Amino acid sequence: MGLKIGIPRALLYYDYFLLWNTFLESLGVEIVLSQKTNKDIVNNGIKSAVEETCLPVKVFLGHVHNLAQKKVDYLFIPRYISVEPRRFLCPKFMGLPYMIKHLIPGIPPVLNVDIDMRKQKGELPVEMYRLGRLFTFNPWKIRMAYRLARENQKSFKKMMLQGFLPEEVFFNGTEKSKALKRTVLKENDQDRNVLRIGLIGHSYNLYDKYINMNILEKLQEMGVQIITSKMFSEAEVNSGLKKLQKDIFWTFGKETIGSAFYLLEERITHGIILLVSFACGPDSIIMDLIDRAYKRAGIPCLTLVLDEHSAEGGVITRLEAFIEMLKWRKQKNEGYFSTHGKPVDCPESPF
Ligand code: SF4
Repeated sequence: MGLKIGIPRALLYYDYFLLWNTFLESLGVEIVLSQKTNKDIVNNGIKSAVEETCLPVKVFLGHVHNLAQKKVDYLFIPRYISVEPRRFLCPKFMGLPYMIKHLIPGIPPVLNVDIDMRKQKGELPVEMYRLGRLFTFNPWKIRMAYRLARENQKSFKKMMLQGFLPEEVFFNGTEKSKALKRTVLKENDQDRNVLRIGLIGHSYNLYDKYINMNILEKLQEMGVQIITSKMFSEAEVNSGLKKLQKDIFWTFGKETIGSAFYLLEERITHGIILLVSFACGPDSIIMDLIDRAYKRAGIPCLTLVLDEHSAEGGVITRLEAFIEMLKWRKQKNEGYFSTHGKPVDCPESPF
């Protein structure tokens, strides 16, 4: 029987699980996932975390606790530094394996691999080869495993653009999966009865139902068509980024601001919702830039800050009020309705 390796169902699991799962399984490894996020997982994560940690990292710690109970041989916690040239991930990802080892004693050994695409040369990154060597001495097998993993990852990215949900794709494949249906949206779109909303945030906030209190389903039940920040092509994101005077050097910051600005430029949604993690440094800047741009343009923008104390009832009330306001603005053509709580004829209003 192969080695059992535990992967926490949190943070970049929603972006890279298929890649790691394909690579490791091709080398004979058995993958064990932590349970879906729940109250116990969050509480255990909070107990281990230092005060100022952001919610997604606290949740990640909780998933590590959960895996530690599943008797795995190793935990797989990559150290993500950079996933594209000239850009970096948030420093929390860079320190994650070390943080885990120090904050949660007694866990299974951590398998760590540095993901730094700035340094990649050739088809097979050295770090992947080193990782593969832990399971086989056959270099050809490692190369083939990595090739298959990359192909699956490419297909996964395409499915995300079409609106598929990550876990649906991981476990059901495309045929049986539900999708949010990314259609070509233009301002003069025929279907004027549909209310469209951009949902902007990190994958772990968008797709972890427990963290976001099932916002996707709630919005769908309200009859809203959703377009998430993971449903934009590189070209669309780059087109949105042209509005900025300076480049953004965080990869996920680039995605969120690029997609939000693209929506603003194309005027294809009736409003946007920003899902922000409490205590997230990058979000505090990026989301504020988006919020200001939408205010200037007079397009409604709702910011939902997610933390461990967020109450579902409060979130639903805010969502319902936001959707109701959008419907009024749209159906009754009451575009003069204030989008941000200030009377539009207020003389001091800067908008
Ligand atoms: S980007 Fe923000 S939410 Fe994500 S890990 Fe970094 S600080 Fe936490």
